[in-house]
Amino acid sequence: MAICMNCGKKTGMRNPEYYLDSDMTQVLCGECYKKLEHFQIKSDENDIQKFDETFKLIQMEMEEHQFNDETKTAMMRFLQKRRARIERNILEEKKKYVDLSDMNTHMLTTGYNFEGYEISGYVGVISGQSALGSGALSGLSASANNFLGTESSYFGNRLIEAKESAMRELIVSSLMKGGNAIIGIDFDYITIEGLITVIANGTSVKIKKK
Ligand SMILES: [Zn+2]
Repeated sequence: MAICMNCGKKTGMRNPEYYLDSDMTQVLCGECYKKLEHFQIKSDENDIQKFDETFKLIQMEMEEHQFNDETKTAMMRFLQKRRARIERNILEEKKKYVDLSDMNTHMLTTGYNFEGYEISGYVGVISGQSALGSGALSGLSASANNFLGTESSYFGNRLIEAKESAMRELIVSSLMKGGNAIIGIDFDYITIEGLITVIANGTSVKIKKK
């Protein structure tokens, strides 16, 4: 039994609960859940456009039924996480069709041009991400004293792996858009749900020999 974060009613046998977070602290009761018709539709897990349409409709339904702000925020977070998962599924699926030899010839730079080449087209801003995993964090906090010793090399290796994986995603995304090189590459490090995540950013371009 729990309390609905939107209407304050108790959940139970006749009013089942729906969780909007993995900690199971944000609860929506069955009655409120029923008001969100589009939330109940399991949209195509591989169609981001369809998902975004459903996303908007759920927002409208929440407005229409005057859901409180806390619930609206929780719902947005819930849907954004689901959206990110769909995006990742799509990327994983696409990776299967990418020619790995193209990946190895993809030209990369942190700068904005390549010696002997000219940029014939800008494809778009792209990013790739990879989480270090919770193991990296627990290994780190478990023994701060060891941080400069073995822990640090463990952490360092995980970081390199994560950076490489983020780079691979970046290249795949560039290839899928039709680019053959990436300029302006840089890395961000952020924490998502307690996991250190490496994000590689860049601009996918088309280059040709001068
Ligand atoms: Zn409710």
